[in-house]
Amino acid sequence: MNHLREEKVFKDPVHNYIHVQDQLIWLLINTKEFQRLRRIRQLGTSYLTFHGAEHSRFSHSLGVYEITRRIISQFERNAYPDWPREERLVALCAALLHDLGHGPFSHSIEQAFQMNHEDWTCRILLGDTEVGRVLKQMDEDFPAKVASVIRKDYENEIVVNLVTSPLDADRMDYLLRDAYFTGVNYGTIDMDRILRMLRPYQGRIVVKETGMHAVEDYLMSRYQMYWQVYFHPVTRSSEIILRQIFRRAKELYTSGYSFAFLPNPLPGLFNSDLTVQEYLLLDEALIQTSFMQWENEKDPVIRDLCTRFMDRKLYKYVELESLDLGKIEEIREIFKDLGLHPEYDLEIDFPTDLPYDVSRPDEELRGKQILLLDKQDRLLEISEVSEIVRSISGIQRGKFFLYYPDNKLQAVWHHLPPEIAQIFERKL
Ligand code: ZN
Repeated sequence: MNHLREEKVFKDPVHNYIHVQDQLIWLLINTKEFQRLRRIRQLGTSYLTFHGAEHSRFSHSLGVYEITRRIISQFERNAYPDWPREERLVALCAALLHDLGHGPFSHSIEQAFQMNHEDWTCRILLGDTEVGRVLKQMDEDFPAKVASVIRKDYENEIVVNLVTSPLDADRMDYLLRDAYFTGVNYGTIDMDRILRMLRPYQGRIVVKETGMHAVEDYLMSRYQMYWQVYFHPVTRSSEIILRQIFRRAKELYTSGYSFAFLPNPLPGLFNSDLTVQEYLLLDEALIQTSFMQWENEKDPVIRDLCTRFMDRKLYKYVELESLDLGKIEEIREIFKDLGLHPEYDLEIDFPTDLPYDVSRPDEELRGKQILLLDKQDRLLEISEVSEIVRSISGIQRGKFFLYYPDNKLQAVWHHLPPEIAQIFERKL
């Protein structure tokens, strides 16, 4: 397939313009499977915490494509011999399509039904779909090549490294885009400078040593975004309710409960036997319509959960000190005695993140480290040189939170033993 006779552009708030030069990319963007990503939010339930966070996986995917395109064109302009020019389209397609298999409220639905978006991405690429047919126009093996880059087992490692690494186009786009749409200031990185410093070298993407401070800044931004945005306790609260809705709906369905409203393909989702065509019917509009209808179901548990989600009556939370952890089972028993639901009215959450990992064995870390290239053409792992990176790498930071419906707890408050009541009284 050829270049487009005239370049197409998308106006983008983060990258200003997204440039499409290849017929193949243009056709892929216009497939029904790619257009479905407009109906899936990039940040799931974060809009309940940061009301601006309504951006879609569609805009993120275009952004990842654009960053990858700029990196490759920098490599081509400089004629770096280590960049395999023939891989350009495989890399661009993998960048564009890497999130194709995300479902509605991805993280919660994946946890509730043990699904994996990467598997679905590959099934969609390899299946009888519009995307699959467009990719096959390149050649019969092309869909399998793109899928293998996304699965990280493609033979040419530098392509995988470009699409998935600690400093890849995916992460750079979501940090910038999520910061922009949530309105926080942490995620703003000097992407142009980082892109200029990237080099293809011995089968890897590395960073010129003088770009170290821009990379430090990027890793700090990532660290801040995790704790200020992605792990925000209010967002976690809405994700807990979402998972509980899915769990309850599946429980009801498998016990033979008859729903007043159960659109396709939800039965297949509960049975874990969705076909690719059915999976593609899942989007956030369908899920939210179902929740709205379930506010009138006979089952009081699902009714309450859906009303909470739709009206944003989320669970309250307290941070647990480690000495309280031993009390969890006791609290569960007391909740049960007081008529609260021991599984739905109490949830423990432990968000944790490893900002940059240097602690695992060498084989596991291959492709996961950020390497600097110095003037003598030596490769240095960044935490060997940067004190800032050393200070945040390998720290597994985490906190325990306890989530509960405040109105239900208030109703039984005077029956709580004082030492338990005291845990819930602590303000953050
Ligand atoms: Zn992504």
